[in-house]
Amino acid sequence: MVDALVIGAGVCGLTTAVVLAEQGVDVVVWAREPERTASWAAGAIWGPIDSRHPEVPRWSAVTRRALLDLEGPEAGIWQLYGLEASRDKVDLPDFLRDETGEIGSVLVPDIERFDGASTGPCLKGFAVAWRYAAPLINMPVYLAFLRQRLVAAGGRLEVRPVGRLQDDLPGRVVVNCSGAGAHDLVPDPSVEAVRGQLVVVENPGIGEFFAEHGGHEVNLTYIFPMNAEQVVLGSTFERHNRCPEPDRDIRQGIIDRCVSIYPQLVAAHVLDERVGFRCIRDRVRLEHERIAGRDVIHNYGHGSGGVSLSWGCAADVADHVRALLG
Ligand SMILES: Cc1cc2nc3c(=O)[nH]c(=O)nc-3n(C[C@H](O)[C@H](O)[C@H](O)COP(=O)(O)OP(=O)(O)OC[C@H]3O[C@@H](n4cnc5c(N)ncnc54)[C@H](O)[C@@H]3O)c2cc1C
Repeated sequence: MVDALVIGAGVCGLTTAVVLAEQGVDVVVWAREPERTASWAAGAIWGPIDSRHPEVPRWSAVTRRALLDLEGPEAGIWQLYGLEASRDKVDLPDFLRDETGEIGSVLVPDIERFDGASTGPCLKGFAVAWRYAAPLINMPVYLAFLRQRLVAAGGRLEVRPVGRLQDDLPGRVVVNCSGAGAHDLVPDPSVEAVRGQLVVVENPGIGEFFAEHGGHEVNLTYIFPMNAEQVVLGSTFERHNRCPEPDRDIRQGIIDRCVSIYPQLVAAHVLDERVGFRCIRDRVRLEHERIAGRDVIHNYGHGSGGVSLSWGCAADVADHVRALLG
């Protein structure tokens, strides 16, 4: 019997397992699929997305600091300046405001605002934009880094599916980081698996990110340079598409949208494509439940922002687990 069984090897499961193992908790991760997760498919950029849970500002602030502490090629993280731009004239997002509501924040310094035509030629069609720096995360590299860090701290990862949380499982405490798998595992009928596709292309010299601002439940356009060699182009938000393979027409649509922002992408060679399924529900579920006489901590439902919340949620889960272990 181990102290903690973590179900799921996406960014939330691995980060939680790393935090637990580094605090001296005996931890094993069981994952049905350890490689091709939603986390592997993510862009990814840090941002306090999906703010329907009141703890999102705190979780995302903790995660931003943790990601910046890890900045470097080993973890696949670098901080870049870039533009978040909206087609509609909207207010400044909360995370870019100070306590008086004005532009500027302790968390994200050096924010510039651009309006209408002053946003420059690459932003035709956008009404307002903000330029600031954010951590960009090369997810395949970052997940490999987390797996290594887990093993270095004495944790283990095993490829094993879990049928039901009522099953005879080895953890004194079970941590459920099953992402969209929570729909069947919990079961939680409010969970919806929503498809996202992105394209990785050669970097034609782009040194800033571009992210379209908008509701996070639509096809937003983004351009995330991962390093001098690769740029991630995104993305889609497809409620009823269950296909795990990349679609050629969807790929072309993503490229066309990105070329309209940065025309130099038109001839960029496609290096890779990724598809993942976000775990969409009304809000993040981070809570304790007793199931079949066992303590379970749920940590799923991060929607389009699980990378950005991962360290903050992991720290809270670890507090619960240690309290339960006594
Ligand atoms: C295209 C795309 C772009 C994105 N961009 C961003 C971004 O820029 N920034 C950001 O913060 N977020 C982004 N996201 C969202 C982010 O990827 C997710 O919120 C995050 O990856 C969720 O992580 P997770 O660990 O909860 O789930 P997952 O990564 O889905 O991992 C779930 C794990 O649970 C396992 N599992 C499920 N069921 C079982 C079972 N029954 N038994 C055993 N194991 C099981 C799976 O095999 C897997 O290992 C994006 C998502 C997509 C798809």
